[in-house]
Amino acid sequence: MSEPLGRHAAVIGASMAGLLAARVLSDHFASVTILERDEVVDEAIARKGQPHARHLHALLAEGLRRLEHYFPDLRRDLSDGGAVIGDMGQDIRWYAFGGFRRQFPSGMTGALMSRPFLEQCIRRRVQALPNVTIRGGTQVDALVPDPGRARVTGLQLKARDGSAEVLATDLVVDTSGRGSATPKWLEALGYSRPAETAITIHMGYATRVFRRKPGDLDGAKLLMVLGTSPVERACNVIPVEGERWIATLTGWGGDYPPDDEAGFLEFARSLPCPDAHAMLTRLEPISDIVQHRLPANLRRHYERLPRFPERYLVMGDAVSSFNPAYAQGMTSAAMQAGARAEALRGSRDLTCLTRRVFPRLAAMVDRPWQLAAGEDFRFRATTGPKPFGTDLVNAYVERVHRATHTDTVVYGVFLDVMNLVRPPTSLMHPGIVWRVLRATA
Ligand SMILES: Cc1cc2nc3c(=O)[nH]c(=O)nc-3n(C[C@H](O)[C@H](O)[C@H](O)COP(=O)(O)OP(=O)(O)OC[C@H]3O[C@@H](n4cnc5c(N)ncnc54)[C@H](O)[C@@H]3O)c2cc1C
Repeated sequence: MSEPLGRHAAVIGASMAGLLAARVLSDHFASVTILERDEVVDEAIARKGQPHARHLHALLAEGLRRLEHYFPDLRRDLSDGGAVIGDMGQDIRWYAFGGFRRQFPSGMTGALMSRPFLEQCIRRRVQALPNVTIRGGTQVDALVPDPGRARVTGLQLKARDGSAEVLATDLVVDTSGRGSATPKWLEALGYSRPAETAITIHMGYATRVFRRKPGDLDGAKLLMVLGTSPVERACNVIPVEGERWIATLTGWGGDYPPDDEAGFLEFARSLPCPDAHAMLTRLEPISDIVQHRLPANLRRHYERLPRFPERYLVMGDAVSSFNPAYAQGMTSAAMQAGARAEALRGSRDLTCLTRRVFPRLAAMVDRPWQLAAGEDFRFRATTGPKPFGTDLVNAYVERVHRATHTDTVVYGVFLDVMNLVRPPTSLMHPGIVWRVLRATA
């Protein structure tokens, strides 16, 4: 490390965004403390504070690339632990818009594993950094400001045994997730809460784990079935470590998949292609069915606030949480970490860091937000501020989906866009538009 920007940085939350934040900060601060409300143990388990970690979590290609930038050899660790490495074009059997997308070797690889296992691999690497400490069983209760309330100088902590403490900080990053208390804490210091954009989807997940045997999917590595109006439901089945499958059913607009066996299978049977139901009936279940509900895509616009305390940042789901069906959350967290790393690299001190970072974070969030919000307006019950031209774009994108049944060039660009490798405008390139129109004429 060259001359550090500060002595001590603190991160609230030891989930994906928090671990990534700590990794970036470790290059610029003498010490970094991650404060996590749950006890943190070296196991691949979903903690109480992250019930979503029990559900299917796919890591997009751009997410894997960015994680490997911070944690070289991560792919090897994942693979050694039983994660499945696959080609995004060749290994996915993916039904959408009335047919299967045409499988082809895309050269774009992804890693498939459970979310707790991925997090464990990353956590171990973060814990191995000499200047990072994870303090589990420690809840952050409030921000401690300087006398003029212009900057954050510490955090009010509460331990499991009820004891309180003030931790002095030079910089704090809030990565405490969608339920982040930052809006409330800002108000307590006399600042405004950020404006919020919510796109309501009333989406439900139901997930079950099954035993995996060779040949379960006839050579493919994962199965995805996307229903479209009037059956606004989906099923994804991915292989994970421990020779297991994780299967997640999804319903939009309050059509929540049930958590009883018969209801779970019936939901799968209602999908427009029989493969998911056939597969789930054959497999041996080895867990209960767990549910999760997500009322809305939610974005907090910190970049628009005229005043914000110095030495304080917010990242990850605390800024923006998307419909998980598009698997963007962890990749978005990694992209935000990259934006912040860039801002820190160009800094001589911490003055005005906040002002420089929030617009960059907002720019990073724009792309996944645009994709999730745009796609969700395809579903009948979705409500919220609809960007101008969404219906027109969706009508074209529907043709893109259908073109992927036959045209691997279009499918390749589509995969790049969905994996956040290329911007959505790549699908509007004249050569692609021509192929889409020809394939769906
Ligand atoms: C059902 C579901 C499925 C998903 N599937 C995918 C997927 O396939 N691919 C993908 O990329 N993303 C997916 N996501 C999104 C992904 O889980 C998140 O984007 C990712 O976990 C980053 O979250 P985070 O670290 O910002 O917050 P979280 O994961 O919510 O973590 C917040 C952490 O902060 C801690 N905390 C909270 N308050 C305090 C406090 N006051 N003091 C101390 N600690 C505190 C919590 O205990 C928790 O550990 C999914 C989300 C859901 C809900």
